[in-house]
Amino acid sequence: MHELSIADSIVRIACAHAAGRRVVKVELKVGHLRQVVPESLAFAFELVAQGTAAEGAELELEDVRAAGRCRGCGAESELDGFPLACARCGGLDLELLRGEELLVDSLELEEMGVMSRGD
Ligand SMILES: [Zn+2]
Repeated sequence: MHELSIADSIVRIACAHAAGRRVVKVELKVGHLRQVVPESLAFAFELVAQGTAAEGAELELEDVRAAGRCRGCGAESELDGFPLACARCGGLDLELLRGEELLVDSLELEEMGVMSRGD
C-alpha cells in the first residue's frame, strides 16, 4: 500500500509548513499516472495525521491528467492511460509533461492567535 508512504510525506510537509498551527485543509495535486486510490490515501492520511498538527485536516485531491510530447512528431497529447501513445502518429516515444506529479498544492492553516485555548 504505497498510499501510506505518500500520506506520511504529506503529513510531514504539512506539519513543517504549519509551524505549530493546526492544519485545516490540504490540497494535493496527484498525477494520473501515480495511480493513487483516493479512498486509500484519505484513509492512510487520517491514520498518519493522528497526533500531529494535521490531525482531522481535510484532504482534497486534484487529479492531474497526463500529457506528453512525442519525440517522433513533436505533437502534444493528453494521455488517458497505458500504453502512453502519441495521439497524432501513435508513437510510443514520449516525453512526459504531466501526470507524475504528487505535490501539496496549498495548505489551509488555522489562524494565529487561536492557539491558546487557556487550559
Ligand atoms: Zn507523434
